Amino acid sequence: MKTISVLGSTGSIGTQALDIARLHKIRIKALAANRNVRLLTEQAREFNAEYVCIYDREKYKELKDSFCGTNVKVLCGMEGLCEIAMLDGVDILLNSVVGIVGLKPTLAAIGKGTDIALANKETLVTGGKLVIKKALDKGVRIFPVDSEHSAIFQCLQGNEMNEINKIILTASGGPFFGLTKGELENVSVEQALKHPNWSMGNKITIDSATLMNKGLEFIEAMWLFDLNPEQIEIVVHRESVVHSAVEYKDGSVIAQMGEPDMRLPIQYALLYPERINCGVKTLSLTDYGNLSFYKPDYETFDCLSACIKAVTIGGSMPAVVNGANEQAVELFLKEKISFLQIGELVTSALENIKSCEITCLEDILQADKETREFVLSKI
Ligand code: MN
Repeated sequence: MKTISVLGSTGSIGTQALDIARLHKIRIKALAANRNVRLLTEQAREFNAEYVCIYDREKYKELKDSFCGTNVKVLCGMEGLCEIAMLDGVDILLNSVVGIVGLKPTLAAIGKGTDIALANKETLVTGGKLVIKKALDKGVRIFPVDSEHSAIFQCLQGNEMNEINKIILTASGGPFFGLTKGELENVSVEQALKHPNWSMGNKITIDSATLMNKGLEFIEAMWLFDLNPEQIEIVVHRESVVHSAVEYKDGSVIAQMGEPDMRLPIQYALLYPERINCGVKTLSLTDYGNLSFYKPDYETFDCLSACIKAVTIGGSMPAVVNGANEQAVELFLKEKISFLQIGELVTSALENIKSCEITCLEDILQADKETREFVLSKI
């Protein structure tokens, strides 16, 4: 049986991954969370984790106290995440933290030679070139957890990469599909947090409402599957049943389908190549009756266009649009800016910040920092 560690164990992906671990008796070496000490403590006790880490340093003492008198090693901060990423005896590190915070631990795990189940898309968006090169050098496998990328990965099984024409990346369209900019002017945080098909954390739910999420996934797909921008077609598919598809050179299109439930892609990443029951509801196509497909509205959802432009420019630009978005979403969730300002700030960062070459982690973190300052100076 496999042993894993989970970064982001108290979030949506993390808790569902632990459901899978419980179901299949997967061993847990270490768990890390952002700031939810209570749930992290509960999880670590249940799974007998040897290491726990809290990212927020202010919570360290509380976590330390709750493991007083035990052998559990208690860590905190970025260095704690990286220490967990480099532990011995771990088959797979599940990285499901939110945002660019996930980049350093991913690189640490690759350095150690540990395979990664990657749910943190910002890792590849900001550091794709470095991460993929290092993973190839070290022979580390990156299993995608994102449902679309898991779908593409599944559609590629038994086929050759050089036989691909393109991939079809599906998008639910989010809660604001079909609306115009005028109609989005007074969107509240509460409305933006209501996703029609998927239950997820706050940041990714807002990203789904702006379609930034699809832009990030576009970039993520390019790095994971070594594709050009021209080889990715985004299709809005309202029902989230077709999780994505691959078109081969003979014209055959292979799609992966299923009920929208993250436990399926999480389990596939953790147990690859096994397929065993994970308790997900089976798909009834006749219950759905019809499946719908549309072209995306690139004008209204300007975050999506910004991501595609950014990756075409290259260099630090994907890190710039990501950093602008992370900062803008944080401001929107605090009700400091309007919904439409997220797209405006991301586009403004794209247009006003110059792209630099990325040669090391510091270059990426610097671009991210400058972009966040740029966004804060604009409001
Ligand atoms: Mn996704």
